Amino acid sequence: MAGPREKPIVGIDLGTTNACVASVRNRIPRVVPTDRGALILPTVVALSEKGDLLVGALAKDQLIVNPKNTIYGAKRLIGRTFSSKVVQELRSYYSYEIVEGPAGEAAVLLGGAVRTLPEISGIVLAHLKRIAETFLQREIPQAVISVPAHYSDAQRQAVREAGRIAGFEVRRIVNEPTAAALAYGFSRGLDQKILVYDLGGGTFDVSVLQLSGNVFEVLATGGDTFLGGVDFDNRIIDYVLDDFWRRHQIDLAGSPIAMQRVKNGAETAKIDLSLIPNVVIDLPYVEERKGKPLDVRVPLSRHRLDELTVDLVDRTFEICDRVLAERNLRPDQIDEVILVGGQSRMPLVQEKIRAHFGRPARKGVHPDECVALGAALLGDSLDAIDSVTLVDVLSMPIGIATPTNHFRTILEKNVAIPSARSFRLPPPREPGQPIEIDIFQGASDLIVDDEFLGSIRLPAAATGRRIDFKLDEESLLHVSFDDPAKGMTALSLATRDTPEALRRALAEAAAERSGPQVESGARGRRGGLFGWLKRG
Ligand code: AMP
Repeated sequence: MAGPREKPIVGIDLGTTNACVASVRNRIPRVVPTDRGALILPTVVALSEKGDLLVGALAKDQLIVNPKNTIYGAKRLIGRTFSSKVVQELRSYYSYEIVEGPAGEAAVLLGGAVRTLPEISGIVLAHLKRIAETFLQREIPQAVISVPAHYSDAQRQAVREAGRIAGFEVRRIVNEPTAAALAYGFSRGLDQKILVYDLGGGTFDVSVLQLSGNVFEVLATGGDTFLGGVDFDNRIIDYVLDDFWRRHQIDLAGSPIAMQRVKNGAETAKIDLSLIPNVVIDLPYVEERKGKPLDVRVPLSRHRLDELTVDLVDRTFEICDRVLAERNLRPDQIDEVILVGGQSRMPLVQEKIRAHFGRPARKGVHPDECVALGAALLGDSLDAIDSVTLVDVLSMPIGIATPTNHFRTILEKNVAIPSARSFRLPPPREPGQPIEIDIFQGASDLIVDDEFLGSIRLPAAATGRRIDFKLDEESLLHVSFDDPAKGMTALSLATRDTPEALRRALAEAAAERSGPQVESGARGRRGGLFGWLKRG
């Protein structure tokens, strides 16, 4: 049995809304409580009116009064280019300012200064490092940090950078579902196919793994980056707003403070309904008319909530079936379903899991903690003789832009990693000019909808030479080129500018969109302070 590690290590789940840190002692992983005694830390960073940097619950507490200087949801922005579609959409939803960083990446304004997302996440990670060091009473130089399985190469690199900024030596970036599977199956000698069903605050992810002893092999993975707990909240919010409108002909969506209260009330009601069959959303004095207070008082039953959200739950099972079908598997071939993410506690989700897979979800794996626990187990086993073997897959294809702004796949989805693919350099766009290759990652056939990873530039004379795309065990991309003079040579990707191909594609997409715009929904789209609540 291994003794105490020479270099202590923690596992960190850096979530969209909350983060969690865990460490292993005598082979048992445990969550490290925060300085407030909680097991999770809100992933929020803020600058107070007085200029103090706040992290966690303190930062979250000042969101309503100081929305411009309160940074949340960094997980959705980190590692993305400023010009990417996701970032441009989130700009109108988030209450703080998203700007272009020094390398063309998305960055944020905090107290008037540009901060990169790795800096922001680095502040959260540094805080977790301090919490762990205080609790464990020793220095913690190393970490394993988890990321969503669908994260691109650039997002993984950016999280690594955040860890470095926090003062960690990041030993591994691990996929969240793989970490959850580790928390379930580590050292149990299982031979099973399991499905990790992760319904969190903002995203849904599903992974299918084969467990054979301490070999954890991901067979397939998929999900929806825009399906999560906030969508359930929004159904309740709309229900409350409609009720208020019917009674008073007042649209509460116009008042940010009222909306924040409705949002909190909706989420609390949703969580309570996981335990009890009926609640009342009771918010005194949300508005006033002619000096008289108006209250929200809306009864909500679990049955009604199920009706309001059943289509969202059904969508998760369509995605499960799609992912299973990629490996010709049926739901009844899954031995265990592991639940991750707070929203998976909803009774309707659990009932439907039982009906869909013919078995109840596995009890005893804590949805909020298992990712951090698994990351900690992986960290602890890294230098051990009987360490685990992880065989992961690429969750989003990597490819290059074609002259028509399409995506040409080089590394396919679900290819086992590490992996490598080669192709030959095409001729330059204009004779005699350098060859520029723009690399993207994503599921779309059109590069505007994919994430730009970087460009490589080679002389025109390189036409026809071999290029290798290699994925390492963390899903990080390495590109090399068969140089006539030096043989295979590593190339670094430049990401400073938006590539020409993407500029053209964006311009075309903008031209297509410039027809008449129709507002969707009765109250139209909600932006500003409320916006982030829609898609946290
Ligand atoms: P996570 O990203 O895993 O922290 O998940 C957070 C989401 O889970 C939020 O949308 C919460 O409202 C939701 N959530 C947490 N606890 C429960 C519960 N008991 N029942 C339903 N949803 C919950």
